[in-house]
Amino acid sequence: MIATEVTAVLALGSIALFVIGLKRLSRVRTARSGNALMAAGMLLAILITLLEIGLVDYRWIAGGLLIGGGIGYAIVARAQATQMPEIVARFNGFGGASSALVALSLFWAEVVEAAGGATAAATLGAASAGTLVLSVLIGAVTLSGSVLAELKLRGTLSGTPRIPIRGPLMGLLVLGGAALGGVAAFAIEDAFVAAGLVIGLVVASALVGIVLVVPIGGADMPVVISLLNSLSGLAAAATGFALGNELLIIAGTIVGAAGLILTQIMCVAMNRSLVNVLIGGFSGGAAEHGEYGHVVSADPESAAMVLEAAQTVIIVPGYGLAAARAQNAVHELAKALERQGSQVRFAIHPVAGRMPGHMNVVLAEAEVPYEMLREMSEINQDFAETDVVVVVGANDVVNPAARTEPGSPIAGMPILDVGNARRVFVIKRSLSPGYAGIKNSLFEQENTVMLYGDAKVVLDQLAGELAANA
Ligand code: NDP
Repeated sequence: MIATEVTAVLALGSIALFVIGLKRLSRVRTARSGNALMAAGMLLAILITLLEIGLVDYRWIAGGLLIGGGIGYAIVARAQATQMPEIVARFNGFGGASSALVALSLFWAEVVEAAGGATAAATLGAASAGTLVLSVLIGAVTLSGSVLAELKLRGTLSGTPRIPIRGPLMGLLVLGGAALGGVAAFAIEDAFVAAGLVIGLVVASALVGIVLVVPIGGADMPVVISLLNSLSGLAAAATGFALGNELLIIAGTIVGAAGLILTQIMCVAMNRSLVNVLIGGFSGGAAEHGEYGHVVSADPESAAMVLEAAQTVIIVPGYGLAAARAQNAVHELAKALERQGSQVRFAIHPVAGRMPGHMNVVLAEAEVPYEMLREMSEINQDFAETDVVVVVGANDVVNPAARTEPGSPIAGMPILDVGNARRVFVIKRSLSPGYAGIKNSLFEQENTVMLYGDAKVVLDQLAGELAANA
């Protein structure tokens, strides 16, 4: 009894840590401690579970922890900042897979091994059996969808939809079949036929994930990743119901709800509805360079002279900053500008880079102070009053076509209005398009000057020039 009360109190503590941690994750300044609090909540949840299951053979648990922890460490330790989106996709997939595996092992232990001629629904109870089907279904969808998302982000699979099927329609058909098979599995008395149907459920659910993600263009991957994140939480919650484990239900629901909110934020940031994303309305990834008129370029030496006179500077990072691993170089430039008395801020577009929060992660790695970071809504009106904007490896998120060309693939996507500044320097290697594969008229604007080259090299040169002339 005392043990039950103790675990109940500890469980409340663990849930409180999740909720407070999640709240802190919503602000850049507090995100690091939020992450630590949530990790502590998860550790507590594991300890409570061990306490609840009592005296068991801990060797399997220790082995699992060592292998799982080792794989996680190996993945993250070798990863570059540019690979973060792929890693997030992979971890979502792992989450879905582990929920499905726990549900499958429950089915195996309670129904197949202990087969006494009763249906799974009778053995487990209808509610438990139903949530078990959901857990396997959502878990397998999350796993296969995440594998595809990772392959698309890596570029192994084309980001452009080229298949003749409409993802959601086909997905719904397979989903219906999978659900029917799942329900049948729990209503059949022969345990081994039921097991066969459950295997069919796994295969069909994995197919649903593939059919849903294949037609979605690479440029819509932020929405897909958030949605898969949400699904991994829902799978965990369903497993919690099947096991009768309240902590898992609550933790899974928190992840599911947070993922859905993030999905909504991403949809708004790209001006797309979720339905529009899921039917693969926007391909991205095409490489139409477009014809450019008069484009002015300069070398870092002359650009540094303009920067020396600038009182206000806004730096706009994009995917190219992460690709060039230029986060430390951009911080050095910001410090050099501050030393000469300029006010320096970073403008962060919500979908800059290749995953939600990509620029925040990259800049945090270089220890750029949070105080210097501004979200799009906070800073957009300030561009008109700014002396110099330095765009570093960003393209789509500063493309005026989103406002001026209704037929553009990015039409309606909120952009950073960098073109309103007195002078715009764009650091990139060429006039090649960004992820959306379209021309950027910002490069032709009179106040824009291109600084061609690798972001790290150009930033190092700019900072060097400023230091030499200080
Ligand atoms: P973009 O993909 O639009 O542009 C990046 C630019 O970086 C390219 O034009 C490229 O030009 C330049 N670049 C690449 N490597 C380097 C380098 N080493 N040095 C200098 N420049 C380099 O990036 P944005 O961040 O502006 O926009 C993000 C896009 O990605 C949006 O379309 C968004 O929807 C999409 N997306 C976002 C995700 C997210 O979650 N944030 C996920 C998936 C897609 P060049 O080759 O000439 O150097």
